[in-house]
This record gives sequence, C-alpha cells and structure tokens, in this order.
Amino acid sequence: MTRSAKPAECLATAFGVLMCCCGERVASAPGFETCADLPEEATSGIRPAAPGECEEIAVDLLRLVDETHGVPFDCVPADLVELSQATRRGVLLRREAAASFEPMAAAADDAGLRIEANDGFRSVQEQCAVFAKKAREGIAAPPGFSEHHLGLAVDIDDAPKRWLDDHAHEFGFVESYPAGAESCTGYPAEPWHWRYVGPAAAEIRRRGLIAHEYLSGRSCRGTPLEP
Ligand SMILES: [Zn+2]
Repeated sequence: MTRSAKPAECLATAFGVLMCCCGERVASAPGFETCADLPEEATSGIRPAAPGECEEIAVDLLRLVDETHGVPFDCVPADLVELSQATRRGVLLRREAAASFEPMAAAADDAGLRIEANDGFRSVQEQCAVFAKKAREGIAAPPGFSEHHLGLAVDIDDAPKRWLDDHAHEFGFVESYPAGAESCTGYPAEPWHWRYVGPAAAEIRRRGLIAHEYLSGRSCRGTPLEP
C-alpha cells in the first residue's frame, strides 16, 4: 500500500483501479475492478484493516456491521466452509455458523420445510458487484458495510419465516433486518437475511430486542436494553 497519493494520482495505478479515502490510497489490489464503476461515495468506505483488526473480527461473533460500522476489505475469514444446504455451489460461511446452519436446515426439513442458502460470505470486492446490481433494484449495503463480509450472514431462499421466527435462535441465528425496525437498522425488512451470533441469539429473543440493538448496545425502539 502506498500512502503518498494525491487525489489526482488516485485515478490510475498498475492495476487500473484505485480507491481513495481520506486523501490516502487504501486499495489497489487486483479484484477491485467491479468497484471502479461505482460512484465515489459508494466506495469511499473501502479501507484496509488496522493492525490487529482482522484478528479481532476473526473471533468476534457479535461484531456490529451497519451503515457506519464497516469491515476492512482485507479481513477475509480463514475458516470459511461450503454449505451443503444451498441452492448453488460455493455458498460459504464461517465454520461455526455453518455448523449451526446445517442442523437448522435439517430441523426445518423434519418439519416439512426447506431451508437453503443462496448467499453467504461476500468479499468487499464482490459486494461492489452486488451493490451495482441492487442499487438499481432497491437498496444494498455499500462495499465494506455488509454483514456478509463477516461470513456470519446467510440469505435463505424463500425463507420459511414463521418457522425461523420460532426456531432460528435455537441454532444461534437472528433476523438482522426485521419489519418495523427500518429506522434502527437503516434497511428495509429482509426476511431472508439471517445472522449467526451464537448463544446471544437466545438472549436477544428473551429480551425482546432486535439484533442491532443488542450488537450496538443502543436501544432504538424504546425497548429497555437491560433485562
Ligand atoms: Zn443478505
């Protein structure tokens, strides 16, 4: 990484793509090609990790990721595994989340319902492509600000919402963007998007919180944060 860039130098590199933030070059690696077509405001949050930051993220199941709390582009989980209960090949989650997702899918199957993942881990680079596509259809998190970067969030195809509402917490999953919490989460309801938080899922449910309140430590719907 070079830290000497002036704004004019941010337009060209050996790789043809360069993100600029705060007057510094932050990303000039291959793979950012899809980011180059996005407006500058969509890519201004792309940044590398501070020393030790990736190591912190790697062991943190309760990392808050929202419109203002991002994930560095170079913090790719080392323990990603492929889900077998998925609509396509290559849907990845961190090992612990995958180890809970598979039995959740099996339990749903026992109830005559189907749970299949159609998306899991996404790199910041991949989020550029998603953002470019979804920005035309509706809202999508800018690159660097998606829970999918953690390898803990899964999108479930045609999610059996009522069953998940009753049982997902038993497997450590919570709904990140519930209906009625748009002003808290910053996003419209996404009943297909579930986040692994481990044992905290049961506590979040018991206390009547949404995940964002628990992870941020801030009540945003008038719900007392203390039990
Ligand atoms: Zn999602």
